[in-house]
Amino acid sequence: MELVAAIDLGGTSIKAALLDSALNPVHSTRVPTRRVGEVVDVDQLGELIETLTEDATGHDGRLVGVGVVTPGIVDSDLGVVRFGANLGWRDLPLRERLIERTKLPMRIGHDVRAGGLAEFTVGAAVGVRNAIFMPVGTGIAAALMVDGHELHATGYAGEIGHAVVDPNGPLCGCGQRGCLEAIGSAGAIARIYAERCGEPVSGALEVATRMQAGDEVAARVWDEAIRALATALTTAVVLLAPEVIVIGGGLAESGDVLFGPLRRELESRLTFHRRPQVVAAALGDGASRTGAGLLAWRAVREASS
Ligand SMILES: [Zn+2]
Repeated sequence: MELVAAIDLGGTSIKAALLDSALNPVHSTRVPTRRVGEVVDVDQLGELIETLTEDATGHDGRLVGVGVVTPGIVDSDLGVVRFGANLGWRDLPLRERLIERTKLPMRIGHDVRAGGLAEFTVGAAVGVRNAIFMPVGTGIAAALMVDGHELHATGYAGEIGHAVVDPNGPLCGCGQRGCLEAIGSAGAIARIYAERCGEPVSGALEVATRMQAGDEVAARVWDEAIRALATALTTAVVLLAPEVIVIGGGLAESGDVLFGPLRRELESRLTFHRRPQVVAAALGDGASRTGAGLLAWRAVREASS
């Protein structure tokens, strides 16, 4: 049985799996990300792939390709991680480094775009040619598909979290003021509510729960987040005309309390435009790993053609 390794590298942990050609995991593992000083150790990925090669043999299989996805600015055509803030990487030729060591067909991708690829191929937006995948968690980014093509722009496309939605808004981690991520992310909702109330909360879902219990501060923070998300998505709809917008990440777990008002707010801003369906992600936090598997199978096909 031919298997691929799907590896989702994060700043704190690495999620990896061996997937068959139908993307079913036959083995999965999770290890803490290893650093040398501030920099994530590339050799750990090489070692992990060697271990997965042995695991594949243990499952009566053979490892035939690898897909690795990372956060940051990733040029997936060249396999170079241009900039990974929480990895400590700059212009790292990751694909070349890993091929040198493993000699396997290999593709490098961006974690959110890979998650989008998975949602567009086997998840919540199957069968459409124009779609946006936007996970809303600590940060916000988007995967964009137009006319069946995934937009990459050498790794710079999709940074919707850093679209300014309020020039007088709070400071963003990127240095700008009023980015979507600084108002509408799950992290921002919890942070802004805690600032205004003077007491910490466990996260955005707790803010939603407090709002439903009649907390007016929570209602205002939630409403500002919804309007920020709708502002950025309206621009995306006007430019890209998606048929489906897939919302993922931690905030999507709040369900109707997010989707109801977000759909209404977005609808109120559109006139002649094509109405997108706004739906919850189908693959949860396994989307990026499944996307890494799809990239790995692409690498295998390319190597054999
Ligand atoms: Zn920003």
